[in-house]
Amino acid sequence: MKNVTVSQSCGKWYVSIQTEREVEQPIPKGGAVGIDMGVARFATLSDGTFYAPLNSFKRHETALCKAQQAMSRKIKFSNNWKKAKARIQKIHSRIGNARRDSLHTVTTTISKNHAMVCIEELQVRNMSQSASGAADAPGRNVRAKPGLNKSILDQGWFEFRRQLEYKMEWRGGWLLVVPPQNTSRTCPCCGHGSADNRRTQAQFMCVECGFEENADLVGAINVLRAGHARIACEVSGIKSPAAGTRRSGSFRFKPGLSAVGISGI
Ligand SMILES: [Zn+2]
Repeated sequence: MKNVTVSQSCGKWYVSIQTEREVEQPIPKGGAVGIDMGVARFATLSDGTFYAPLNSFKRHETALCKAQQAMSRKIKFSNNWKKAKARIQKIHSRIGNARRDSLHTVTTTISKNHAMVCIEELQVRNMSQSASGAADAPGRNVRAKPGLNKSILDQGWFEFRRQLEYKMEWRGGWLLVVPPQNTSRTCPCCGHGSADNRRTQAQFMCVECGFEENADLVGAINVLRAGHARIACEVSGIKSPAAGTRRSGSFRFKPGLSAVGISGI
């Protein structure tokens, strides 16, 4: 045992125990898979599996709004105000728990069943920047953007990637990050790449060969292909077309090296 942390949050006590032990070189199970991240579907796998958005914040938004209004009507620092405040904290903690739980379920399932996971490099920070722009170059869709921003930040894509990275490493697998260029508009059937292939957000239809499929699934298939291409280039020593991106993290425990396992709360 390395250390124990006792903490309190929203009237509940938590104990977190960190242990260290020798582990065998893990042997990953399953094959390779590509993942497309989206708003309508949180994650789509290249084998066709998909996960619904977490949206926990939206679900709790009404309750939170009501609780906040109730608190604003109370006299500051009175007993009723304190009670109202505690109610708000409770809702926040519920939101956090729901998000953490669904993220962990998804990342555990994916890392348990795949030896290699390919995922797009997402520029969430850029995507969630203000749309209003500068005074000399005002942004477009200024009103639509805050909704999208909230949705993106609410998705937990960064946390998803972070969990996937260490869980793949735990099980001896790889997480491969590929550049997002053209993964949504290239036909996995004939290779034709065009923005016209994406007439709607949800549907992909190739203007060249007529191949039709759900757009997120097409994205996931292309992400997997990009991952395979990257490995092929690295093995044969050719400079990868995906230069500038990185292979994520160090992927394997060296034999004999002890790994630190952290037991959750
Ligand atoms: Zn095609």
